[in-house]
Amino acid sequence: MAGRTRVLSVDDLPFLPFTTRADLQADQEAHPPFGNYLAAPTDRVARVHRTSGSTGPALLIALSMSDIERSVVAGAECFRAAGVGSGDLIVHCLNYCMWSGGLTDHQALERSGAGVIPYGVGKSSELIEMIRRIRPTGLHCTPSYLGRLEERLAADFGLAPRDLGLRIGLFGGEGGLQEPAFRNRIEQTWGIRAMDANYGMSEVLSMFGAECEARCGLHFFGDESLFAELKALDSDETSPMENGASGELVLTHRGRECQPLVRYRTSDIIEVTATEPCSCGRTSPRFRVIGRVDDMLVIRGINVFPGRVVDAIHRFSDRLTGEYRVQVSREAPIQEFRVVVEERSPGASPRLAAELADALEKSLSIRPTIQLVAAGTFPRTSGKTCRVERTL
Ligand SMILES: [Zn+2]
Repeated sequence: MAGRTRVLSVDDLPFLPFTTRADLQADQEAHPPFGNYLAAPTDRVARVHRTSGSTGPALLIALSMSDIERSVVAGAECFRAAGVGSGDLIVHCLNYCMWSGGLTDHQALERSGAGVIPYGVGKSSELIEMIRRIRPTGLHCTPSYLGRLEERLAADFGLAPRDLGLRIGLFGGEGGLQEPAFRNRIEQTWGIRAMDANYGMSEVLSMFGAECEARCGLHFFGDESLFAELKALDSDETSPMENGASGELVLTHRGRECQPLVRYRTSDIIEVTATEPCSCGRTSPRFRVIGRVDDMLVIRGINVFPGRVVDAIHRFSDRLTGEYRVQVSREAPIQEFRVVVEERSPGASPRLAAELADALEKSLSIRPTIQLVAAGTFPRTSGKTCRVERTL
């Protein structure tokens, strides 16, 4: 085919190499600021976001007006599916300081038809005052931020979360809501409908996953802008988004102008939970996030995601504080697996360790040793805490 350019189709994707976040980081370092993969003239760059720097240097995300529009369209679909729209007024409590969750998701909320209060993060007491004054119908934040608001409500106002009169909570950025006990606690305490409404990643598309009223996983709303594959964990084989399929989510942009990615390994491991038309009327496949490739432990030959451990611990939130450590063998292959949890009232529940071991064995297919320790044993930090220790 010398001298001729062949137009690649999605059928050719398996012949192309994967792209990783480390590739993008190295490329931006070698070709600052946006990397050699900036595919549009710099005067097309209409907005710059930044990813979190949790794994290496922060990536700069350049977006054209068309890239922004695609993000806003997919994000608006997510919010509508989660049940917000015209008549809602949502206080938007995500970081506006270069994060796509701030400005871009704000625009997506507006596009859904809802009104938006652009609050950002911090100043929690002032936020509560503002909610009491404006009376929005819902809020959009990380689930863990609710704990902070609960503290301030009690300490500064003597109020319960229900007193704010919110109707709906839109959550993203962290897992947890797929665990019924955790979600129930939020819904009971706040008197809201708690929806997993914001799954995405800024280097690909700020939002492309959200659950609908049926709550049968996250609808995949990326089809207009993304081509998805699932990569096997132990090989480079990929499979389509078929019912029951699981693997690392690999995404290729359709029509991204500024920084199009081809076969980008997201590091998120997902499972497709349904592909038939949903009771909500939408036909997009549903999926759930199982964990991160970087976090995966191979214990006695079984893939274990520490995130699943916390899901099980949340189920015992009446007796456990929720703080925990996973302790495993120092060296591979990992044989030893212990979960250390803080008990609210030591000794009050003699069967607790066995019940927790049963629950973990059921969700992980492997039984850990459980160690109960007193509440307050582990230090509380505001940042990201490493809860996996290679000490045994
Ligand atoms: Zn649905």
